[in-house]
Amino acid sequence: GEVVVAPSEAERARAEARRRIWLAERASAGETATEPAVTRDGHRVEVAANAGSLEDARAAARLGAEGVGLLRTEFLYLDRATAPDEEEQLAAYRPLLESLEGRPVVVRTLDAGGDKPLPYLPLEPQPNPFLGVRAIRLARRHPDLLRIQLRAILRTGYPAVRVMFPMVASVEEIRWLREVFEEVRRELEAAGAELPRDLQMGMMVEVPSAAVLADRFAPWVDFFSIGTNDLAQYTLAADRTNPAVAELADAFHPAVLRLIRMVVEAGHAAGRWVGVCGELAGEPLAAPLLVGLGVDELSMAPVAIPAVKAAIRRLALSEARSLAEQALQLDTAIAVRELVRAAAPPADPRESTG
Ligand code: PEP
Ligand code: MG
Repeated sequence: GEVVVAPSEAERARAEARRRIWLAERASAGETATEPAVTRDGHRVEVAANAGSLEDARAAARLGAEGVGLLRTEFLYLDRATAPDEEEQLAAYRPLLESLEGRPVVVRTLDAGGDKPLPYLPLEPQPNPFLGVRAIRLARRHPDLLRIQLRAILRTGYPAVRVMFPMVASVEEIRWLREVFEEVRRELEAAGAELPRDLQMGMMVEVPSAAVLADRFAPWVDFFSIGTNDLAQYTLAADRTNPAVAELADAFHPAVLRLIRMVVEAGHAAGRWVGVCGELAGEPLAAPLLVGLGVDELSMAPVAIPAVKAAIRRLALSEARSLAEQALQLDTAIAVRELVRAAAPPADPRESTG
């Protein structure tokens, strides 16, 4: 996080020493990466990977992922002149899912529009793409696009498929999505397709309205996965792609943490599992907060898995809970970062540079 121009001998030596410690830590975390992440007092947290390609899915399994908590499917849709048809999608999902060897995989439906336009679905220019026709808002305008994707995902027959919808903001939307999902499921069943044995349908929580009303959304879903990248951007009104304000969209902000707590409480009260799949999940420094808030699953870039698992193993659930409680009472993201740093001197020297 820091660039030193023309470092002195002493600065160079310090950086080299830190690098040696970091490499040693990384090697030791890597050795235990395929073992479960259990806190000192016996609380297990599921650690999964985010993936956006077949290569990512393979890396995930190798680096100790217990599943895929977010499969971004945009790779199938972008940079082409026409939409991928059902057979092409099926042919892409099958090897990807099979590389996870039965572990659960959360497949997110298309999250395009906004800043990722599709040439075959022209939209009028949008002054605020992130507040415009994006993700399932695009699906509502083009329901066939959604149906084709759902049919392809379900037709894989992969046992532990979870379908997840991005950017749900209102209960009407999730009701409609549940309806379409069930229709597609019934159609395929009637046609004799072999469907996933353990199929779930969930939604991302990345718009504050979905967090605040999580109890009203819960009856319509099997799980929630919190997208902290967008949740921070929308909560703090700071465009994540605008470098002038991106720093404001800090997921360590107590306002974001309070929303996460609301989702966990509402989800658990309704018997739903709750994950986090934004970048925050891959930060070892955030592990005590997320575990302390009661998050059941963390999904992250595959390379982050060994260090986050190691961070979870250093925790006690009881301590993490009280740390999370304290964080919820703070005013700023900086204060939250200071609190977690002070509570757990980082084992990984990268954590002390931020
Ligand atoms: C998020 O918003 O946190 C998320 C995981 O989705 P994406 O980064 O793909 O918008
Ligand atoms: Mg998002």
